[in-house]
Amino acid sequence: MSEESPVRRFQDFRWQQVDLLAYKQEGDAPFKDITRQVLFQFPDLDGELRYFEMAPGGHSTLERHQHRHAVMILRGHGRCLVKDKVFNVGPNDLVDIAALSWHQFKADAGEPLGFLCLVNVLRDKPQLPTESDLAELRRLPGLSAFLTETC
Ligand code: MN
Repeated sequence: MSEESPVRRFQDFRWQQVDLLAYKQEGDAPFKDITRQVLFQFPDLDGELRYFEMAPGGHSTLERHQHRHAVMILRGHGRCLVKDKVFNVGPNDLVDIAALSWHQFKADAGEPLGFLCLVNVLRDKPQLPTESDLAELRRLPGLSAFLTETC
């Protein structure tokens, strides 16, 4: 009986024995050019660690939910909207996305943006913004241009 190694090697932003998955189900929500790898899924820790990577210019879905995200950028540069502000992010930055904060990531042109994201195994389904949520977000300083590019 062969035992699985506790160490899975990393090369070119892929991990051994980890499938490269679509970010979300097609048609679920708006997003562009993202892949997902589930690195750990441990119900006894109530935690799941994923690696997301967006191609240059790609972006995640603008959404919010009850569960928290703990994010660490691993590669590239981009911007993230968290709650009511847009931040520049780069390698090794940590991003805390609190419950019910609107959030969205966008990769800069010219390089992919990759990040780790820790979540609960059991979590609520993301909510998408309504037209009136979007209108409210667009009124916040600095958000209008970001949202025009990504929504
Ligand atoms: Mn989310």
